[in-house]
Formats: sequence, structure tokens, C-alpha cells
Amino acid sequence: GDEGLDTVVKPLPLISTSRSECRWADTSSYATNKKLQSWFQLPNGNWELGKILLTSGTESTISLPDGKVLKVKTESLVAANPDILDGVDDLMQLSYLNEPSVLYNLQYRYNRDMIYTKAGPVLVAINPFKEVPLYGNNYIEAYKNKSMESPHVYAITDTAIREMIRDEVNQSIIISGESGAGKTETAKIAMQYLAALGGGSGIEYEILKTNPILEAFGNAKTLRNDNSSRFGKLIEIHFSETGKISGAKIQTFLLEKSRVVQCMEGERSYHIFYQLCAGASPKLRDKINLKIASEYKYLRQSNCYTITGVDDAGCFHVVTEALDIVHVSKENQESVFAMLAAVLWLGNVSFSVVDNENHVEPVVDEGLTTVAKLIGCNLGELKLALSTRKMRVGNDTIVQRLTLSQAIDTRDALAKSIYSCLFDWLVEQVNKSLAVGKRRTGRSISILDIYGFESFERNSFEQFCINYANERLQQHFNRHLFKLEQEEYIQDGIDWAKVEFEDNQDCLNLFEKKPLGETKPSVSDIMQARLTMIQLDFWRRIETYYTWTLSSFSLHVEQIHKKLSVATKFKGQLFQLLQRLENTTPHFIRCIKPNNSPSPGTYEQGLVLQQLKCCGVLEVVRISRSGFPTRMSHQKFARRYGFLLLENVSSQDPLSVSVAILHQFNIMPEMYQVGYTKLFFRTGQIGVLEDTRNRT
Ligand code: ATP
Ligand code: MG
Repeated sequence: GDEGLDTVVKPLPLISTSRSECRWADTSSYATNKKLQSWFQLPNGNWELGKILLTSGTESTISLPDGKVLKVKTESLVAANPDILDGVDDLMQLSYLNEPSVLYNLQYRYNRDMIYTKAGPVLVAINPFKEVPLYGNNYIEAYKNKSMESPHVYAITDTAIREMIRDEVNQSIIISGESGAGKTETAKIAMQYLAALGGGSGIEYEILKTNPILEAFGNAKTLRNDNSSRFGKLIEIHFSETGKISGAKIQTFLLEKSRVVQCMEGERSYHIFYQLCAGASPKLRDKINLKIASEYKYLRQSNCYTITGVDDAGCFHVVTEALDIVHVSKENQESVFAMLAAVLWLGNVSFSVVDNENHVEPVVDEGLTTVAKLIGCNLGELKLALSTRKMRVGNDTIVQRLTLSQAIDTRDALAKSIYSCLFDWLVEQVNKSLAVGKRRTGRSISILDIYGFESFERNSFEQFCINYANERLQQHFNRHLFKLEQEEYIQDGIDWAKVEFEDNQDCLNLFEKKPLGETKPSVSDIMQARLTMIQLDFWRRIETYYTWTLSSFSLHVEQIHKKLSVATKFKGQLFQLLQRLENTTPHFIRCIKPNNSPSPGTYEQGLVLQQLKCCGVLEVVRISRSGFPTRMSHQKFARRYGFLLLENVSSQDPLSVSVAILHQFNIMPEMYQVGYTKLFFRTGQIGVLEDTRNRT
């Protein structure tokens, strides 16, 4: 209400610097102010806004919106923001930064289709699970000419372009979030904006067409997301000196190969299989001996062939058109489809026992003969490949016959390797088509869309790698936003209250080393949140994983070697990726899934809170708000704004010029700090100067 306004808005409460005080210390003094609105937590965990009627001693009487009046412990009340702050577009603007206020603010916006909110430097995107009228040319135009400034993927992408040009530094847009939170859609929206602003050469059209191709071959229906990416993707978009897109390069990570031969009830294998089965022309079907999806064991096992609202045959045409556009010849396309059919037919290959030691041979039927024809080898060779293996013993090679389970593993391994080679080959073709000229002169913006934490009943090795990748990215995020920030203040001699931040190195060590017998790292609240999210009897799982690895060492040497080499390769790739990212100015987008249904309009507070905590969004706001997030070297500042000065200062040193500018524009002393090499500003301060500069 109005009475509360003066009391609440004026003072910007001191922000607690201790992580444990997540409910901010300013609450109790606040709560003694009668008639103020306050948050009260219901037994189900949700927060409800109540009005304080009376406070006496340690007890307060509050009224809830439904008319109920309750007596509660004063200390359990959490300060609510005044109505005028409802739905602010940056959480940093909240006077009271507590969990219910943040949740309420995001929900207030979400209910009005404002799915984007800034959390200091981070963009929070809440999945609307429906079409929202926020995209397309009019919006792109509005963000480009800055007539629209509310938080948006377009806005963050625009900032990336501007900073790339202004600072001559490569940029990256790092998108993270759980499965189904909206990472891939967000990446596409960012690409749309880049293509609109940097387009002209026509290459931008090809870049956009890589999406349907990679999604067809690398996405699948899972229980959480009908279009779940089963690989990680970094797309580096290159710009010429004039700011036009000159090419792009795609790097993919760790495609989930096991899905080709095995998937859970209700899930599907990769989209392309169903698209091919549904959309291939009669001529093509004939040529590669293609049947309908339900004829194939690999597709039959999960008992799910279609996705509600998706036309697989239609998608097939979109994919072939996209392949045309990225210059994959019709002939090569046909080879791709032949390989896909070979994979499907491989799954139908069965075996029969041929001796009294349970050795098997593949049954010669339509499946086997078709595979041989499609992959271009003779039947005898294929039979041998599926029923024997070569072993080296000293200098000799011996041929060992396989039992049924060994033969099935061999068959499935062949199917997986054909598919993953095909995927890599496609990415290579796409890259050739998008290749930048040899003399790369310009700059780039990279977009990273990597799948989120996962946990299932049985965590496979692949999930282990995915979670490891996420931990590394979390560290990158933490380091960038917390550690580097503070190190910079200290280096530059800035008066700064040190904020504790949680490094997840402990967690990473666990992934990287053998944890057996080592002490477990202490699990702090961020980590705890993350672990809850990945369920996580987590430690036990990791230990089980390693125990398994070690104890069965003698039994499965070969298998372990393979796994270790995959892990090493992946670690190498990841290391390279992070190195590349470290040389860029990062922009972070955190996608949030508001419910697990998924359905539009449902906002589950607990679920949202868990995700916000998990990725440290609240911490970022806290740090940003209490710090000086904008910084510029004395030289740059003097150069950029010096000409606005009324007096001629050309003979003066950059520091003196900078100070003169600050004075002339009446920037309040508490809004900036002068460091040894740089000036540090609170949020929003540079905007005033930029506006003046742009008007001049
Ligand atoms: P995964 O990790 O499984 O790949 P993801 O984070 O990439 O998940 P998306 O595939 O991008 O999730 O999004 C899941 C679904 O949510 C989309 O298929 C779409 O239906 C919906 N969605 C996401 N973002 C938006 C948006 N901005 N507007 C409308 N719908 C959206
Ligand atoms: Mg995705």
C-alpha cells in the first residue's frame, strides 16, 4: 500500500555478504513496520503475500489475501517489495532481494508473457511452452534501433554484436538449463537476430538451415522433451570487418550413440529415422529397401513412433531441402539415406547357434542381405564381421568366434559407429559449405547450446560425461562472474567487500580423479541444490561407477580402454572449448523450465527456485547489485567521453580527463570508484554518458 512506500523504497538495504543468509538480514526490522506487505511461507512451500496487522514481541499477526488471519513468528516473515516494483525487468532493481520476491517478480512477468528478465548481467528465460508474440522482423528492427529495450535474447545478442565491434573482442553466448528448458530454441532466436543484422551475403540463410539438419540427426523425443538435443553444439559465426556474416563453423560434442540401438519406453531414436520412414519417395524406398518404422527392431523397442503435432514426412522434406541448401549433393544425400537404412536393417539381424560352445552366426535373411548391399560389402565378409573378432596374441592374430551376447554387442557397435560417422560426416559437409575464407580477418560470435544435467535410474557413461561437461561450464560461469570480478577489484585497488563464492572445483575433482578412499568435498548449498537436482545419491553413483570400472578391470579391459579413450577425448574437447570461451566476452542465458508437464501458464515456484539456485542466479544478482559491474580503462574512458568536456583537456593525462568528465556530469561519488588502471561503475551509470555521447 501507499503508506509503506516511503519506508521501503528509500533505503537500499545493505546486502548480506554471507552465502548462508539467503533470506537477507533486513527482514526483522522491516516486519515491525505495521501494515506492510510481507511474504509468508505456506506449509506446501509456496509463498503467499500477507499484510502485517500487528507485531508484539516475537509474534506478528498477518492477514492473507483470502481473508485468513494468522499469528506467526515475526522472524519467519520475509520482506516484500512495494507494488511499484512489481515486475521490474532487472532483478537488480528490487529493493528486497529475497527468494519469494525474486520468484514473484519472475512469475508476475511470466503471467504477462514477459518471459525474459535480467538478473544483473545474466538473461533469465522462462520457457512459455506456447507461442509468444515476441519475435520476428518488427521486434528485430525495434531492438536494432533501440526503440525497444526490455530484456530479450535479441537484446543480449545485440549487445554481443556491439561489443564485438567496439572492443574488437570475440564474443560468446552461453546458454544453459535443464532438458526442455528452451536452450535450443533460444540459440535459434539468437541466430535469427545475428542473421538479420549481419546478413546480406546469403551465407546467413545457409547458417539457419543447419538447424533442421542437426536437429533431425541429433535430436530425439525423450520423456522430458519431444525435441531433445542429444549432442552439444558450439556454432561460431564469423563477421567481416564491416560487420557482415562471412561464414560459420560448427563443433559438436558427444553425440549420444547408445540411442541408436537402445531407447526407453515412450522415447524415440533420432528423428531422422522416423522422418525417412515416413517421408521417403517410393523410388527411394525401393532403392534402399525401406519399410515402415514399426518393421525395425531398433525403432520398435520403445513402442513410440510419432510425436503429437509433428509431421515426420513433412520434416523429411524440410531436411532434404536444407541439405540442398548447404550443398550436400543429391547423390550424397542418397548415400546418407542408404546408411540410415543399413543401421535400421542391422537391428533386425538375428543369430543362430552353430556349435556346442554356443558360438553363433548371423541368420541369412532379408536384414543381413540388405545390410551387405547397402554398406557395399559381400555377404561372407559381413557374416564374419558379425560372428568373429580378431585378437592379437604376441605377434599373431587369432580369430575368436563370438557367443550370442558378444555378437549382439558387435552388431550394435557397428550400428552405433555407422551412425556417429554419418553424423560427423554431415557436420563436416555443413562446415565445408559454411567455411570462412582462409584469411580470417574479422571477429566471431559463438553460441553454445549444451545439454543440461541429467539423471536417470541407471546413469550411463554418457550421462556421466554430460554432467562433467556441465560442471566445467558451471565453473566457467562462476569464475567469470564471481572470481574474476573480485580479482579485478582487488588488483585495481578498489574498496570492496569480499563476497564468498562457491567454486565447484571439488566437484570437478571428483569427476576427474578416482574418488575411492578420498574424503568427500563438503557440500555447500549451491552444490547441494545442484545435487538435489541430479537426485543424487550422486556420490554413490560416481563411486559405483568407479568401483565398477576398477573391479571389472580385468574382465573388460577392452571396454574400459574404449570408455577411457572416449572420456579422454571428451575431456580434451571440453578443455579446448573452455579455452576458446575464455578468450571471448561471455554473455549468459539461463533457461528455466517452469513446470515438468510441460504446459503453458503453469509456474511451479519450487521448481523454478531450484533451478535459479542451482545455477547461481540469485548470487549473481546479489554480487552485481553490490558491486561495480561496468568498468573502463582511464584511457578508453577519456577517449570515449573526453570530447564532451566543456574545456579543452587534450594536454592532460587520461586519469585527470576521466575525473573531469565524472565531475562535469555529476556522477555521484557512491556510484563509481577510481581504480589504478580503470574506472568502476555501478549499473546504469554509463548509460547517461552514452546517451549524451550518442546525441552529440
Ligand atoms: P534439451 O536439453 O533436451 O535439448 P532444450 O533446453 O534445448 O532441451 P528446447 O528443445 O529448446 O529445450 O525447448 C523445448 C520445447 O519448449 C520446445 O520444443 C518448444 O516447444 C518450447 N519452447 C522453448 N522455448 C520457447 C520459446 N521461446 N517460445 C515458445 N516455445 C518454446
Ligand atoms: Mg536442446
